[in-house]
Amino acid sequence: MLGLAIVAVPPHYTLQDCSVCGTRVKKSLSTATHTCHECGTVMHRDHNATSTARRKSCIQKSKVKSIMEWAF
Ligand SMILES: [Zn+2]
Repeated sequence: MLGLAIVAVPPHYTLQDCSVCGTRVKKSLSTATHTCHECGTVMHRDHNATSTARRKSCIQKSKVKSIMEWAF
């Protein structure tokens, strides 16, 4: 066993959710900049989406760990 975990992150809202505070910021596909009205974060839309996906995968990894501990 290589110890490699592959975590699938549902793509829903990764473009819209703020990677810092989680607030959903609706934006059109033509909007290139993520600007959060809650925490003031301003970054490129793609950078925000990547950070949001990474954050969600960390949450899911903890769920996987607790499931594995329960199963074994
Ligand atoms: Zn925010």
